Amino acid sequence: MESGLFLNNENAKKRIDALFQSGRIPHGILLRGGDEELRKDCAKYMAMKFQCISQNPPCGKCGQCVKVMSDCHSDVITAKGSGKTGIISIEEIRRISADSVIKANEGKYKVYFLFDVDKKLMREGQNAFLKTLEEPPEKVVFIMTCESEKALLDTIRSRVTLLSLDSKEQVSGEILETAENIVLSILENREFPLMKSLAPIMGDRAKAKEILLQVKEILRKSLSQCFMVETGSQTAEKASLKLNKLKILKLMEATDNALMYIDQNGDMNLLSACLCGKYRRIAWQK
Ligand SMILES: [Zn+2]
Repeated sequence: MESGLFLNNENAKKRIDALFQSGRIPHGILLRGGDEELRKDCAKYMAMKFQCISQNPPCGKCGQCVKVMSDCHSDVITAKGSGKTGIISIEEIRRISADSVIKANEGKYKVYFLFDVDKKLMREGQNAFLKTLEEPPEKVVFIMTCESEKALLDTIRSRVTLLSLDSKEQVSGEILETAENIVLSILENREFPLMKSLAPIMGDRAKAKEILLQVKEILRKSLSQCFMVETGSQTAEKASLKLNKLKILKLMEATDNALMYIDQNGDMNLLSACLCGKYRRIAWQK
């Protein structure tokens, strides 16, 4: 079986392959977006990449790949959750942490799947998971999935590499340029250029939303850049060099709040002024 047949989403595959090609494989990966099935398929595809013994992983043919595909690899472990809701309990997190210390049985890595962490891993569970996620044993990888990373603690988010599975929507050149301009202005230590760059969001709501979604996307890429993941965006790269991870997360959060404000029919002139202030405070603070 060709691995292409298994994961038939070229965009997602390309992103995963790029992450592996970057050479610095993170031990905590968060797959975000897409639907539940795509997220699970991507997690499995990654596990195959970790375990496959062929020169060009995943081959989809070797014993390792086949076992991962058929859910019977003893070193690819899924957090099961309990009860009707499938909540992953603190006890289960502790069991996983203890188990992760034991060496892999048949594979090169120990891979843990934690699906739908935005719904199944509550705050207490996330807190219990922090230490393991920060200093995992060697050859241990945690692959988590979520619809949105909003329900996750910042401390979790900053310890994982986020990989978005949302198919790239066609974005007009103008929108992208405006968004890049905003991010570049955030990096400058001057108020006026930032205000000016935010002027286009004062008009039409739909357009403002598109622009801010792009700002968020660039910031998300710059976060990946912080983990040495090539994203192909020069603006994101610049941002990753000037800002730290926490600042980038805070900027993303401010952008998220602005997007919610637009949805709630907020005043657009006020929004642009507020956002200008917020971005400045976050980016320029020592
Ligand atoms: Zn293989």
